[in-house]
Amino acid sequence: MRDRLYTTEALIIRRSDVGEADRILTIYTPQYGKLSVTARGVRKMTSKLAGHLELFIHTRLQLAKGRSFDVVTESRVVQPFRSLREDLSRISQGYYVAELLDQMTVDESDNPALFRLTCETLAALDVLDEVVRRDVILRYYELHTLILSGYRPHLFHCANCERELSPEADRYSPITGGVLCQQCSSSEPRTLPINLNTFKFLRYLARMPLETVASLAPAPATVHEARAVLKASLSQVLERELKSTQFLNLVRG
Ligand SMILES: [Zn+2]
Repeated sequence: MRDRLYTTEALIIRRSDVGEADRILTIYTPQYGKLSVTARGVRKMTSKLAGHLELFIHTRLQLAKGRSFDVVTESRVVQPFRSLREDLSRISQGYYVAELLDQMTVDESDNPALFRLTCETLAALDVLDEVVRRDVILRYYELHTLILSGYRPHLFHCANCERELSPEADRYSPITGGVLCQQCSSSEPRTLPINLNTFKFLRYLARMPLETVASLAPAPATVHEARAVLKASLSQVLERELKSTQFLNLVRG
């Protein structure tokens, strides 16, 4: 339960204008998960909150319980992530991270590790200049978002028979949830190719902390293939989530 007045760290992941000067913010917090909150009068020039509630900002908020939405009463910026709002490539990457987080989470379900991962990811995107390095960070974010949401892709043991994988394994099954051994892949037609470099790259991402990964510069083809398999896994998970929500609504309706 939240007190009438409470403080929390937050990442601002979505905003929409309402009324004359207000905004509804979607925020992601370590202990309350995802919340929608109101920032009153924030679009007025005179608002003391303006500039402290920009997209992708890592902030410490004070909130007051409201009838429908809680209301932001104070915001103190922890990390501004300024360059995420300055150049187009970073803006699109920031949006991608925010959208993925939004899609992979439901309201008021806490996941402090996912909050930390997202902070570290935005911080890395904010400072890394080379595009390929930022792409590696995005792959890291995709993989670890899957892991922290309970959908760890099988990269060390076959997703089907659980036998230890050898370097010859070269098929990835988003439906089964990871790499398949050669025996299992021959009977599963719905797979994607994964070559040895991509396979090793993903294993490395799975084991290493983000700051280690930030210094990697793999071949673009490897990052590209990693993107394809991770994207397939994310779609698989999101489709399932979406179906379960649709089903819930159907039952409720
Ligand atoms: Zn197998």
